[in-house]
Amino acid sequence: MKKSLLLLPGPVTVAQPVLEAMARPLINHRDAEFGELLDRVKSALAPVFGTQSDILVCGSSGTGGLEAALVNCFSPGDVLLSCSVGAFGERFASIARTYGCAVESLETAPGVALDPAVLAACLDADGDRRITGILLTHNETSTGVQNDMRALAPVVSRHGALTLVDSISGLGASEFRMDDWGYDVVVSASQKAFAAPPGIAMIAVGERAWKAMAAARIPRFYFDLGRARESKRAGQTPWTPPISILCALDVALARYHAEGMTAVWERHERYARAVRAGLEALGFTILSQPSAHSVTVVAAFPPEGVPAASFLKHLRERYGVVLADGQGKLHGKIVRFGTMGDVREGDLLGAIGAVELALADLEVAATPGAGTAAAIDRLSTARSFDYAR
Ligand SMILES: *Cc1c(COP(=O)(O)O)cnc(C)c1O
Repeated sequence: MKKSLLLLPGPVTVAQPVLEAMARPLINHRDAEFGELLDRVKSALAPVFGTQSDILVCGSSGTGGLEAALVNCFSPGDVLLSCSVGAFGERFASIARTYGCAVESLETAPGVALDPAVLAACLDADGDRRITGILLTHNETSTGVQNDMRALAPVVSRHGALTLVDSISGLGASEFRMDDWGYDVVVSASQKAFAAPPGIAMIAVGERAWKAMAAARIPRFYFDLGRARESKRAGQTPWTPPISILCALDVALARYHAEGMTAVWERHERYARAVRAGLEALGFTILSQPSAHSVTVVAAFPPEGVPAASFLKHLRERYGVVLADGQGKLHGKIVRFGTMGDVREGDLLGAIGAVELALADLEVAATPGAGTAAAIDRLSTARSFDYAR
């Protein structure tokens, strides 16, 4: 089988030592050895979430983590404000509706990030505090939009509702400070910026959220986070965990910290800039607005007359480069190029070169090497990066 290059916004290209960790003999999840593994994973995740609070790991995809966060925090009839900026934000709102919450939506145009001033106006209008929960997306994978969670934090804190953050494709790739910024529940998953296989959701729960959970009445069993916290005290999980994936995540997190958190943030930022520049030079139109660019996924419309779906198929079949299609209303309209995973500069340049070849096959005229030249320019002019943003 020919090797292909996975540049999806999850799952991502996983490094060989991480894959090999999944081939280790299984261990008893009720023994001390498992408790040590769990502790290591949690200690490695704490600085990435920026929290001293409990971090629970759960055998599920990211969506299970969102469901867990939601069902533990609220009661049927609770009024929640969904601040969706795309398909994944809509999914979070759908989970809330499924469990009987009354969801109100703050609409944002596609490609645009949530405006702190607009959110502030919306929350200020809620003088009698009907809204008990706010659903936020750190990084919206369907449109390649990243919200400024630092700027949004004081706005939601002033209102006081419980804030749940989907940071599944955001966490690890850029700075996040759950405790300093005051977010109550933050959800992530193994298969995005942490570059491990899919199968584990991570849920960080702050003190205010634990208090709310004691009173929340949505039924829950598998995803009962109170139970997960009890088990965690004994170095365990309530149910049989995906042990092999935890072994892989353990190795992935060791690699993450060996590279260094700020170096990882810088890498994602630099890669995303290079991909945007490369695609733009080939006639693509970037979907996200300049102040809203994601560092983990670039969403772009192909050049005029190029059908996204058949272009992606040709790129995959002829050149072995796997990019993602659009979701929902954007299905068949855009391509999404992930920057996460065990990929290096050469991989990105290879993929951008393949995009150019695939366009040439479709007889789209471009200056030869335009895409890779623009990307190389961005990759080689790494600017110093303002982490205090
Ligand atoms: C990938 C992703 C999800 C869904 O995760 P699954 O693991 O597929 O359930 C949710 N939200 C965002 C922002 C994502 O990128």
